[in-house]
Amino acid sequence: TTNKTSISTKVLNEILEKNRALYKDGKVADYIPELGKMNAKAIAFSVVDENGKIINVGDVSQKFTIQSISKIISLMIAVNEKGEKNIFDKIGYFGTDKPFNYFANLDNSGKPLNPMMNAGAILTTSLIDGEGEIPFQKILEMVRFITKNPSIDYNKSVYNSEKDTGNRNRGMFYVMKNTGLIDGDEEKLNNYFKQCSIEITAEDLAKIGYFFAHHCTRFDGDKTYQNPELAKLIQAQMMVAGMYEFSGEYARTVGLPSKSGVGGGISVSVPGKIGIGTFSPSLDSHGNSLAGYHMILDLVNRYKLGLFD
Ligand code: GLU
Repeated sequence: TTNKTSISTKVLNEILEKNRALYKDGKVADYIPELGKMNAKAIAFSVVDENGKIINVGDVSQKFTIQSISKIISLMIAVNEKGEKNIFDKIGYFGTDKPFNYFANLDNSGKPLNPMMNAGAILTTSLIDGEGEIPFQKILEMVRFITKNPSIDYNKSVYNSEKDTGNRNRGMFYVMKNTGLIDGDEEKLNNYFKQCSIEITAEDLAKIGYFFAHHCTRFDGDKTYQNPELAKLIQAQMMVAGMYEFSGEYARTVGLPSKSGVGGGISVSVPGKIGIGTFSPSLDSHGNSLAGYHMILDLVNRYKLGLFD
């Protein structure tokens, strides 16, 4: 017997409207000046259901930058190329109580905490094979593949803004060069800034969530990258560190592997079932989308989607 959750447009709309005003309680990220230009009121909610069907409500065509959600894609590529052991010899599997741009562990043990926070993600991208922009191109192509959306590209103004103001990330990059973890020049850091600047929609994020929820099988059934072990690794990392220092409380309330980005997106995997993508650029103090979190929480509670429900 099959027991598939069917999620309706009506329910998604209800949940979206219930949380629409939450943007007022948060703040659009402006530490990267270009990000501060986002319309705080924009909101979108997408699901890829168990049959691969896509349901979108809200500002469905609104594009925004993927930011930290790109870290699960770069991790996938690096592990595929180098093997898990070679990557995790250099990066920890740790959860965190620290914000996304936490620095100090580099000096203590020489190893970033995990690949979900900036230090580990900058290192992960630097470990992808290829000269110059090639590692970034691989990340972009993988995002296009998973979403089946060849029109996806990166936003050059956001990229330049990230690069101009990214001195903290640059500092991490040079400390890791100093300790020998990174071999190469600043082009490798630029690839990280570029991957953060890739523009997607909430629907694209739901497809990414679905992909990892289904052993790296695409929403249309394409199995080119199918790899249960890799999907398990990525989802475990999302679970322990995908929401930065809020990850523990998020595991308690939502209980699903999820990855947020300061552009206002969240991508969620309901293992073996559905993918969820949310967008609302107004963030809480941890850098997670406020309305996004509450839309996910409402959907999860309604359908008992959490792993511990
Ligand atoms: N581009 C951002 C940074 O490294 C990504 C951070 C995030 O989304 O949390 O500062």
